[in-house]
Amino acid sequence: MAKAVYPGSFDPITNGHLDIIKRASEIFEEVTVAVAINSSKEPLFTIEERIEIVKRVVQDYPNVKVDTFNGLLVEYCKDKDANVIIKGLRAVSDFEYEFQMASINKKLVDDVETLFMMTNTKYSYLSSSLVKEIARLNGCIKDLVPDELVPIVRGKFNL
Ligand code: ADP
Repeated sequence: MAKAVYPGSFDPITNGHLDIIKRASEIFEEVTVAVAINSSKEPLFTIEERIEIVKRVVQDYPNVKVDTFNGLLVEYCKDKDANVIIKGLRAVSDFEYEFQMASINKKLVDDVETLFMMTNTKYSYLSSSLVKEIARLNGCIKDLVPDELVPIVRGKFNL
């Protein structure tokens, strides 16, 4: 069985991410959710907050670990002996960028494979940015993030 890395900014983790994590944990021996430190986006949650939140919501999955990474993802995978990168695909719009990333990563390190999992159609519209935008405008984010995160995300906007 292979070890997989599921990378992202998780700012914050959504039910769409969690669905991918749960399904991947049923396929792979071990799944490491790798929270990107060096994201070009200016995050709402600090790296420490994102790690703590992800740890909290994956605690029921014994083969899911949480870590951070900085720099090249494929180098991180090599260091951790992981041979698979998991990516979620929501819409055709995700495809072009992910195809480019998977191709360059394959060129950089040939024995790390990128595998794509289709979003659960329930979450095909869902992104962290959308959650932040709705919360910022005082909209309801229930069902978009795990229930325990609703007050935490709203709290960031003093709601
Ligand atoms: P976002 O795109 O929401 O800002 P990330 O950069 O943290 O989130 O994305 C990490 C990974 O999770 C990417 O592979 C992305 O395609 C995937 N992902 C994000 N949202 C969903 C969703 N609703 N369903 C399936 N995969 C998703």
